[in-house]
Amino acid sequence: MINFEIPEMVKQVRELLHGMAKDIMRPISRYYDEHEHTRPKELEAFAPIMQAGGLGGGRKKKKEKKEIVETEDKVGSNAISIAGAEEMSWGDVGLMLALPGSGLGNAAISAVANDEQFERFGSKYAAMAITEPGCGSDASAVSASAVLDGDEYVLNGEKIFVTDGDRCGAVVVWATLDKSQGRAAIKSFVVEKGTPGMRVEKLEKKCGIRASDTATIVLEDCRIPKTNLLGDPEIRPDGGFKGVMKTFDNTRPLVAAMALGCARAAYEFTKDAYAKEGVEVKYDKGLFKQSVAEKDMISMEANLEAIRLLIEKAAWLADNGRANNLEASMAKAKGGKAGNIIVQKCVELLGPVGYSQDNLVEKWMRDNKVNDIYEGTQQIQMIVIARRILDYGRDMLS
Ligand SMILES: Cc1cc2nc3c(=O)[nH]c(=O)nc-3n(C[C@H](O)[C@H](O)[C@H](O)COP(=O)(O)OP(=O)(O)OC[C@H]3O[C@@H](n4cnc5c(N)ncnc54)[C@H](O)[C@@H]3O)c2cc1C
Repeated sequence: MINFEIPEMVKQVRELLHGMAKDIMRPISRYYDEHEHTRPKELEAFAPIMQAGGLGGGRKKKKEKKEIVETEDKVGSNAISIAGAEEMSWGDVGLMLALPGSGLGNAAISAVANDEQFERFGSKYAAMAITEPGCGSDASAVSASAVLDGDEYVLNGEKIFVTDGDRCGAVVVWATLDKSQGRAAIKSFVVEKGTPGMRVEKLEKKCGIRASDTATIVLEDCRIPKTNLLGDPEIRPDGGFKGVMKTFDNTRPLVAAMALGCARAAYEFTKDAYAKEGVEVKYDKGLFKQSVAEKDMISMEANLEAIRLLIEKAAWLADNGRANNLEASMAKAKGGKAGNIIVQKCVELLGPVGYSQDNLVEKWMRDNKVNDIYEGTQQIQMIVIARRILDYGRDMLS
């Protein structure tokens, strides 16, 4: 049974990372927004912490996973990761993504690698490269190729919008073993930085999360050991693609937690600003006596709570060895959409104070937008949710 009491370990992580977000991230937030592509040197000391327990860095080995199922109420790495992601994103989403040591590729490694691969790659700072000029929402359209040549795979293709693509130590690249065999032939490959044939071609200039680097990566006859293919190397028409897609079950709740942290920051700023003006939210007034601002504040709180509960459920299921594909998409859909409604509402309620660069609220509005885009857009989450609820296949709803 899911337990709504916050475990002591999660409380401690929250407290620690909240302090870091407040004292280290917030003071440098505006600087790195204005100095895009500058590496935040203040964060370098945190690499070992991220490597130990960052985005999926704390996976249990397979034989330990069985234990998790049996205990039925396990607080695992997912519960800790979402709490950490929320608190750090309360500080700054872009800086959270820029923390060296753990990237979205680590969640992929955690979800798909076998134990031997997890030993080799689990502590690498890994980015994830799926998107291509001709492949976005439909991840099965990947056309980067991987051809087996002796004991090596030879990779070719172009990947765009790779978060951490410049600063990472390795890139998890999605490529196809045989385009004619469709999604079953898509596999993920770990390419270590410095491997000949892989280069960063360009850094993106962005609307928000400007502290985080977003790169175009080109692979040209890039040779990697064949043991760098994560998981099962066989092309299995019956569900091979599900293996790589499992990555999203880990990353979607995390992105929702990032939206929650950012939206909570904007909400708290707004509530404090109103309190300073002597405006207090009265919960017991009844609907018809509330001011519009009070109604808006209460609605934001309800949305924050709804996002939190969905994320916690998705993480709890993952930590307890249960399928969470539906819940991960629900958390991501709600987090992305409600998060953006909240940050925009805060700018609106604050008026010029919200729009001015004297405060961070306008930045949070820019930063949060991406949480409704990457790891599957709002529209794609709705399709996944509908498919799961209706038990439709891709052929029936896409
Ligand atoms: C800052 C940033 C960082 C990113 N980081 C990464 C990363 O680290 N790794 C990575 O691989 N990618 C990354 N991405 C890419 C991101 O995942 C894609 O942008 C996203 O998946 C959408 O793909 P697309 O841009 O090709 O849009 P498209 O797929 O072309 O979609 C365009 C619009 O059409 C809608 N749409 C598409 N298909 C449907 C449908 N069937 N029904 C209804 N609506 C539909 C979409 O929701 C969207 O609104 C990043 C993007 C950004 C902006």
